[in-house]
Amino acid sequence: MNYARFLTATSAAREPSAIRVLTEILSRAPRSLISLAAGAPNPSTFPFQAAVVTTHDGKAVRLDGARMARALQYSPSAGIPELLSWLKQLQVKLHNPPSIHYPASQGQMDLCVTSGSQDGLCKVFEMIINPGDNVLLSEPVYSGILQILKPLGCNIINVSSDEHGIVPESLQEILSRWKPEESESPRRNTPKLLYTVPNGNNPTGNSLTADRKKAIYEVARKYDFLIVEDDPYYFLQFTKPWAPTFLSMDIDGRVIRADSFSKVLSSGLRIGFITGPKPLIERVVLHTQVSTMHASTFSQVLVSELLHQWGEEGFLAHVERVIEFYRAQKDALLAAADRWLSGLAEWHVPTAGMFLWVKIKGINDVKQLIEEKAIKKEILIAPGNVFYIDSSAPSPYFRASFSSASPEQMGLAFERLAQLIKESL
Ligand code: PMP
Repeated sequence: MNYARFLTATSAAREPSAIRVLTEILSRAPRSLISLAAGAPNPSTFPFQAAVVTTHDGKAVRLDGARMARALQYSPSAGIPELLSWLKQLQVKLHNPPSIHYPASQGQMDLCVTSGSQDGLCKVFEMIINPGDNVLLSEPVYSGILQILKPLGCNIINVSSDEHGIVPESLQEILSRWKPEESESPRRNTPKLLYTVPNGNNPTGNSLTADRKKAIYEVARKYDFLIVEDDPYYFLQFTKPWAPTFLSMDIDGRVIRADSFSKVLSSGLRIGFITGPKPLIERVVLHTQVSTMHASTFSQVLVSELLHQWGEEGFLAHVERVIEFYRAQKDALLAAADRWLSGLAEWHVPTAGMFLWVKIKGINDVKQLIEEKAIKKEILIAPGNVFYIDSSAPSPYFRASFSSASPEQMGLAFERLAQLIKESL
């Protein structure tokens, strides 16, 4: 792969920060090293001494002494080494990407920790997209991505999708405007990347099937574009076996995968990780060096200690418990929808994640119904238009989350909504 052709001039011009390099050296140095180099403050002046964070099973993650001093200190931009190595092993176990064995320059799998996956995704797009570049995605799409893409001035091309996600034939049809061999010519402007949320898409709750992923990957090979696999709901899949990921089929090193601990460990700790070909991960790390410097060391140490205590098995057992919670929540919201919205609206059963995507029948634009009338009745749901490239266009859809409300509240919300829909028809 010619990674250089995907980089913006800004990203290509990034050079390692000399001071940050010292922090990396220091993090691996023996205790005997005398450092007068780094600009790190002396942690003995920090007010915090120790922290004990207990888990629901009564166990504790204890941070004190040297460990606490470290948790409060600057750390390497790619992530603290013990968390990075744990995450690398996890990725190999879950996805076993072919690229793990490749030479570094040829897209060997690498990984870096980011301040939530949103931070990583923002850096990935800023690394790749110039004004006027063509970018592929499928509407409705996670609005947080539109907010990154629109100011970058790219041309967003919508690929048709249905309840199984992106339709590969539609992707191929769009790409047939270009000749495969034109991808190396910058003037032809072939799409640089496809962005997708393959499991429990936000907002639709849909997942891409394995067959579709394979077909999409083949189109990506033919037209030489990257696939950005944003998968924060991977650990919230309701059916087994879990679908193979784009990363698992990435023989070329063209997949950049965003993972998140927000849905299973904590959203406030802000820990996500980006996995992809080394030459691109290096660029994300260089961006991190000059922006956030690194994801919170305290968060990383806390998460790393917990994961080491649990081991992979313990982590996956925890994930199973989280899935069971969301499964029950999903079933409760579906029961409420069946009871109150049948005949008035349509939806597909979510396969992963925390969202139900509902189309109200007979109303072309539900924005006013949701933003004015529903709020007056004390119901908050997300209007569908915000998930479209043109958010000013009318939409009959809304997104309802089943993460927090109780089954009683879900029933009450849909009962009130049904009343409002009937009044508006
Ligand atoms: N991608 C998608 C599809 C999401 O739904 C979210 C969270 N709403 C994110 C990325 C960002 O997640 P975080 O930064 O908390 O990891």
